[in-house]
Amino acid sequence: MKRNLISIIVPCYNEQEVLPLFYRETAAVVDTMDADFEFVFIDDGSKDNTLSVLRELAATDERVFYYSFSRNFGKEAGIFAGLTYARGDYTVIMDADLQDPPTLLPAMYDAVKNEGYDAVATCRVTRKGEPPIRSFFARMFYKIINRISDADIKDGARDFRMMSRQMTDAVLAMGEYNRFSKGIFGWVGYRTKWLSYENIERAAGVTKWSFWKLLKYSLEGIINFSSVPLYISSWVGLFFCLAAFVATVFFFVRRLWFGDPVTGWASLACLITFIGGVQLFCVGVLGQYMARMYAESKKRPIFLLRETNRKGERE
Ligand code: UDP
Ligand code: MG
Repeated sequence: MKRNLISIIVPCYNEQEVLPLFYRETAAVVDTMDADFEFVFIDDGSKDNTLSVLRELAATDERVFYYSFSRNFGKEAGIFAGLTYARGDYTVIMDADLQDPPTLLPAMYDAVKNEGYDAVATCRVTRKGEPPIRSFFARMFYKIINRISDADIKDGARDFRMMSRQMTDAVLAMGEYNRFSKGIFGWVGYRTKWLSYENIERAAGVTKWSFWKLLKYSLEGIINFSSVPLYISSWVGLFFCLAAFVATVFFFVRRLWFGDPVTGWASLACLITFIGGVQLFCVGVLGQYMARMYAESKKRPIFLLRETNRKGERE
């Protein structure tokens, strides 16, 4: 019987320290498994020697393919490129820093092959080793986004997952420019098994995520997968119209009964500033959606390739 091919997709940005280690540990696991493997490394415009490390790996192992971007396009673009070029019957997305333990691969493969699942995804049970404030905001983000969007996103979900060819193609069919993979995976559906494990700290090198980057990323998620902020701004508008109407009637009646002492200009000034603020905020929310529509309508490529070692692939 033909052995299945599993593509291991690894987006790498400045990972020269950890890549050889990642390759060694992962190769050791896959060599014990009853399947064929290919490594699809995406060099996301690294500024260190990641690319030359990849060239060396490719020279020693013919299962290693690398694709190098023309600049840094971000991890989402890396995932998309990896899924695009992967030729496997199953695809796996892994971080280069060994925070996604390769020892889970046999169990994942077993679930998709024998238990009838289309995908196996992973989540962290603890956020050990993470700054508490970061965990707090992360928790809040998952609460909010699950309330207001129809993509089901699990708290602590990682990008580490194995997917069938069918689901991979479904993810690739979502050709949007503003990509939020956690949402896309949830949106396409399919039967997904969840494995959880303890948080593992990165084996070497440094994290590429600052607090601001994460905040921007979470707003990206909300705006890409929910229109609720737009509804909220129209409800807020409606609320103020009603309030203004009630206030008008109230002041009109009071004027008729009690005359018109000129007082209350301070509260008036506060009200005007407040409503002005609310208006600007709502225009801003609208602008966020518009900006994304603008980006989508330009149909720019999600990534640009500069170099690859795979024959027949256009650079
Ligand atoms: N990564 C990438 N492009 C980027 C930032 C990160 O390809 O612009 C890769 C990085 O090399 C790693 C993975 O995404 O393989 C996760 O990054 P990191 O470990 O820094 O994130 P964390 O685990 O701290 O959330
Ligand atoms: Mg990491």
